Amino acid sequence: MQRLSNLAQLAHWQAQVAHGAQPIAFVPTMGNLHAGHLHLVAQAQAISPAPLILVSIFVNPLQFNDAADLARYPRTLDDDLARLREAGIDAVFMPPVDVLLPDGEHGVRIDPGPLAQDWEGAARPGHFAGMATIVAKLFHLIRPQFALFGEKDFQQLAIVQAMVHDLNFPVDILAVPTQRAPDGLALSSRNRFLSDAERATAPHLYAQLRQAAGALIAQQSVEAVLHKARAELAAAGFVVDYFALCDAKSLQPITRLSPNSVLLAAAQLGAVRLIDNLRIRS
Ligand code: AMP
Repeated sequence: MQRLSNLAQLAHWQAQVAHGAQPIAFVPTMGNLHAGHLHLVAQAQAISPAPLILVSIFVNPLQFNDAADLARYPRTLDDDLARLREAGIDAVFMPPVDVLLPDGEHGVRIDPGPLAQDWEGAARPGHFAGMATIVAKLFHLIRPQFALFGEKDFQQLAIVQAMVHDLNFPVDILAVPTQRAPDGLALSSRNRFLSDAERATAPHLYAQLRQAAGALIAQQSVEAVLHKARAELAAAGFVVDYFALCDAKSLQPITRLSPNSVLLAAAQLGAVRLIDNLRIRS
């Protein structure tokens, strides 16, 4: 596994592998790798014919609107490298901040457009512009044929797909289903900040998504179903930010189940903001 920390090393690796003319499958991450990330790697390894696999680890300061959140984001580089080596990837790109942002944080940004307005975009101003800007840079630098993103971050995935479509990036975006703990909690780097009691409560979020999906499929009123889910989460100790039924493409709220719907949810449990979602294809 090649460890690439700067643009010269990345270019050198690309020149080396260009001889094989093998396409690159790219998995962008912020590190602190868990089984969800490794599932993205496994999905990249399942592509046929086999591409080269490059994983990036970059805690992107542009996508944090809260300095304290950025400062406490878990950084576990040695463990991450051991896991990636074990997974058998070809290269890891792990640039320090000034390699991707040599002029600081005040440069050109990608406008992520209307998909970024609501939900996480409303809760975290600037988050998606920062994400899209760094993803665009990484796509230009790495020039992958495939890039893999988790459905866990449903709005992020939708924005990346829209950016690639609207700006004609020559990359195929592959969506990977959310990996969960046995009790249903979506794996996330932030779960480590949950206390034992909060960790025991956290699976309620996915349980409510499933319950709401069942009730919606059974034709119950959308308003009543969403209201009940929010109330039950609040009773369990969550501070609910949103629990909404949306069109899976536009991410706009809908008042009736459509063939391509998604439940989007975010709720605070203690100091931890949990997000999750559930597709409903009817
Ligand atoms: P992050 O390191 O949190 O920025 O995540 C990097 C990539 O891993 C993103 O595409 C995420 O959507 C994806 N990801 C994070 N958690 C999961 C999960 N539990 N299941 C599947 N993909 C995930």
